[in-house]
Amino acid sequence: MRLGVIANRLVLIDGETAVDVERASNGRFASDPARLFDKWDQLVEWAAGAEPVGEQPFADLLQNPVPAPRQVFGVGANYRDHLAEAARGSGQAADVDALLPTAPLIFTKFPACLCGPYDAIPVPSTNVDWEAELVVVIGRRAERVSEKDAWRHVAGLTVGQDISERVLQRTGPAPQFSLAKSYPGFSPMGPWLVTPDELPNPDDVELTCAIDGELVQKGRSRDLIFGVPELIARLSAVLPLLPGDVIYTGTPAGVGMGRTPQMFPRESRP
Ligand code: ZN
Repeated sequence: MRLGVIANRLVLIDGETAVDVERASNGRFASDPARLFDKWDQLVEWAAGAEPVGEQPFADLLQNPVPAPRQVFGVGANYRDHLAEAARGSGQAADVDALLPTAPLIFTKFPACLCGPYDAIPVPSTNVDWEAELVVVIGRRAERVSEKDAWRHVAGLTVGQDISERVLQRTGPAPQFSLAKSYPGFSPMGPWLVTPDELPNPDDVELTCAIDGELVQKGRSRDLIFGVPELIARLSAVLPLLPGDVIYTGTPAGVGMGRTPQMFPRESRP
């Protein structure tokens, strides 16, 4: 199942068309995307048997599929190759083995910075960088879940950018990841939410990022240092993960900070 949001209403993506969930279900499910997880299990079941009637071509109309999460987690330094480039970018020697984290580096992206996949993003400085990431959306409350049970608590996956202001990120007595990654528009997501059953292997998803047609990032989620099940187990050991919560799982190598010379966009385009 693929779910998106158009004109602030929940839609089921069916091939080339989008079907309004509230209308197609005769009002059984709300159009408000913030209520997507009220009846998640029933929605999954309905969508599997629904005979949706194609309504509108969706093109670039799709908005953020999860616009109102209560908690948004980010994970830093979660790919070896990105860890190495980040070390180089900040002038450290790149002995990756010595830098490997023993626990995930967790920060938050404050929800006010969320936006849709085609929205323009204000660029507040000349140090704004891109980070394409696999994004996990929680579907069922997760509290102290094991790695083995973790995927059962996932509604689906989408793609996001953990846009980052690199100077603020390192300003102050300790790194300011949460603030530097939460300017308005710094968390685009979408274009849709894909349930894990649609993927041949949800633990091995390819992730790419291109700028003006130039491929700058290409990675696979099997290379995450802390994969999705381990992230859910470790986070839910501390606090409950709630339906609709979002986890930005980390970026592979290829960000602007890691290039020679470094490259930071001056303007944003989808
Ligand atoms: Zn990131």
